[in-house]
Amino acid sequence: MVDMEERGKIVVIVAPSGTGKSSLISRLKGDFPDLLESVSHTTRSPREGEVNGTHYFFTKVGLFKEMIEAGTFIEWAEVHSNYYGTSKEFIDTALKKGQSLIFDLDVQGADSFKDYFGDKANIIFIAPPSLEDLEKRLRGRATDKDEIIKRRLNNAKKEILRKNDYDYCLVNDEFESSYAKLKEIVGKVLGV
Ligand code: ADP
Ligand code: 5GP
Repeated sequence: MVDMEERGKIVVIVAPSGTGKSSLISRLKGDFPDLLESVSHTTRSPREGEVNGTHYFFTKVGLFKEMIEAGTFIEWAEVHSNYYGTSKEFIDTALKKGQSLIFDLDVQGADSFKDYFGDKANIIFIAPPSLEDLEKRLRGRATDKDEIIKRRLNNAKKEILRKNDYDYCLVNDEFESSYAKLKEIVGKVLGV
């Protein structure tokens, strides 16, 4: 069980796939080098350039289910027909050391974090400027097949309805100005 008085802070980024959260998180890690990103487990296949243990722990479905049974995850969810989960041990160890953490979760994961951590979880929803822009970004990234892009766009419509349910909401329209707003929020949460 995590001690809620631990000094480490929890930042959660929630955004429909393709909004730009990986790009934004990557910049944040440069500006806040002490902010450690949690590496989730997923049953989806790696995209080109993704490295096991860095981007995700790529895990077979059977093993993932065994890990659920074993209580490995603080939360897990089925997203776009794959499973994703956050390791409990990773969080406990990091928070005990006073380490601040950043998570990239879907809305289900963000809701679980709010239930588990309460106000200790600082959840930032990042919205795309429009569904048209989101589709352009997903297609421009060129990492997913058409069927997968359609599934992600459908899911995005539902996720966007949740945009005002969290602690902060911002739109990733022009990258640099959106990043500046995000950096200000994260700086405030971390107290730096
Ligand atoms: P996510 O992690 O949310 O799925 P990515 O960070 O992979 O999204 O970004 C999806 C695509 O959109 C990438 O090709 C990225 O370069 C591009 N992108 C990110 N932010 C912006 C922005 N503000 N304006 C235009 N394109 C963007
Ligand atoms: P992608 O396949 O594009 O990397 O991620 C798809 C979705 O899964 C994104 O919305 C991302 O935030 C979410 N996700 C990634 N890791 C986790 C996790 O550990 N738990 C949950 N609930 N969602 C996750």
